[in-house]
Order: sequence, then C-alpha cells, then structure tokens
Amino acid sequence: MSISRRDFLKLAGISSLGIGFSATDLLWKNRAEAVEYMSSPKGLTAKRWAMVVDLRKFKTEEDYKRVIDACHYIHNVPDFGNLKDEVKWIWTDTFEHVFPFQKNEYLPEGVQEKKAVLFCNHCDNPPCVRVCPTQATFKRKDGIVAQDYHRCIGCRFCMAACPFGSRSFNWRDPRPFIKRLYPKFPTRTKGVVEKCNFCVERLAKGLGPKCVEVSNGGLIFGDLSDPESEVRKILSKHYSLRRKAELGTRPSVFYIIGGDEDA
Ligand code: SF4
Ligand code: SF4
Ligand code: SF4
Repeated sequence: MSISRRDFLKLAGISSLGIGFSATDLLWKNRAEAVEYMSSPKGLTAKRWAMVVDLRKFKTEEDYKRVIDACHYIHNVPDFGNLKDEVKWIWTDTFEHVFPFQKNEYLPEGVQEKKAVLFCNHCDNPPCVRVCPTQATFKRKDGIVAQDYHRCIGCRFCMAACPFGSRSFNWRDPRPFIKRLYPKFPTRTKGVVEKCNFCVERLAKGLGPKCVEVSNGGLIFGDLSDPESEVRKILSKHYSLRRKAELGTRPSVFYIIGGDEDA
C-alpha cells in the first residue's frame, strides 16, 4: 500500500518539510522514521495525553536545566543567544507571571518564589488550531496538538491565538544555531512556527517524553481518561492548577504547587 508523505507525516504527528538539510538522503531518512513511528507495535496510546508538573520536585537550577536541555537537544531547538529570536519548546517563568491570580502572601513558604516549568498545554479546546488557515496545526485523536511544518506558511496566527506564549517563530534560519545536532529529529527552517509536541516521535516508539525521563519525578505523563493512570492518581491526591483556566482552552498540563497534600 502506498501512502503519501503528507499522510504518514500527519499520522506520525510531525513533519519534515519546513525542515533543514536539503540533502535528499536526510529527507528520506526522515520519511523512513515517520513510517517507523506509524508502524511500531510498541507505540504508546491514550485517549487524552496529559502532563503533571510537580513543582515540589524542582529544587535547584539544575533540576530545571536538565529537562530543558534534554528536550531542546533531541528536538534540535536552536539557541540564538538573544530573547528577540528565542525559540523554545520548554522554558521557565516566575510563579507570579504563570499564576497571577493565585499569588497571595499566605501561600506556603517558598511556593511563590518558585519558577514553573512551561510548555505547550496541548489544550483540549485549542485556539491555535481554529485559526490556522492551512491546518498545519491540528489536534490528534489522543489530544496532542501537533504541527505539520510542511503546511506552515508562517502567518503566525497561531502565535497570536495562543494565550500561553507556547509557540516560537523562526525569524532566521535556525540550523546554524543548533549547538549539537541530533540526527534522528528533523530541523526546521526560517519562517516556520514550532513548539513542544509532547514527544510524539518517542510515544510512537513506546517511550515517554524525554523531559519526563530526566525529571526525577518532577514531571508525570499519562492518559487523563484512564482512572488508573499515574496522572489521574496524582491529581486525585493533590490540589492542582491549570494556567489561565478561565479562558476555557482546557489545558492538558496540570501544576502541583505544594502546600497541604490533602487539599
Ligand atoms: S498552549 Fe497554545 S499552542 Fe499549545 S495547544 Fe494551547 S493554544 Fe495551542
Ligand atoms: S504560522 Fe503555521 S501553524 Fe501557525 S497558523 Fe500560520 S500556518 Fe498555521
Ligand atoms: S514533552 Fe517532549 S517536546 Fe514537550 S517539552 Fe517535554 S521533551 Fe520537549
């Protein structure tokens, strides 16, 4: 059975055009990997993937750096060395900025000084998908908001629609700014938007997200629709927050900020 490039890339939840390495062999390498993602019998599946960030486990700068470096390395995220051009899939910000309405002077000691780990929320009701004129951004059946770089025309409507700043635009060719190339993941090109993909390429191989793997328990990933999943169990035991819940995008990322464990 033949399958078009567009089809298998969409099924894999990633794309390889709008990517770097004009060499044909790398394109074919990416194609082969995409097919492999599709056909892997070991692939992890869910009705709705979700992430829990347990901020109690992030205690040192190294705890944050480890998850960011791991993600950015395996996804060839460039480092332009300035905020204006910054491309990020996972990053941090202050508690005050992330949860502006939750800050008060009676929070447990240390909570409001803590930084939060941020990434795309893979919203259940994603405004970025609604505004994309080319369907380059789309929601998969498992809840992951994925992107087909090949279809991205760089209009940045999705960036304007995302209330979380989760998307980055490649104003310049990112390839010279990749510190250490990870050959198993495609690079992107100038004029393309990108963001966290909940590691679809790893899920397809039966692996969890890379940031989760190196987080020492600070990040928990699983199926929100399964009451037996680790994410559901932890959410049933601890009070959690979602960013800007009042906007109705229904984020799939939950934050445990600390305090009374039975709250
Ligand atoms: S966080 Fe932003 S980019 Fe991610 S799904 Fe929600 S609206 Fe879209
Ligand atoms: S920048 Fe790309 S992904 Fe975003 S809305 Fe435009 S075409 Fe869609
Ligand atoms: S889930 Fe994957 S893509 Fe998203 S921040 Fe973690 S490592 Fe990066």
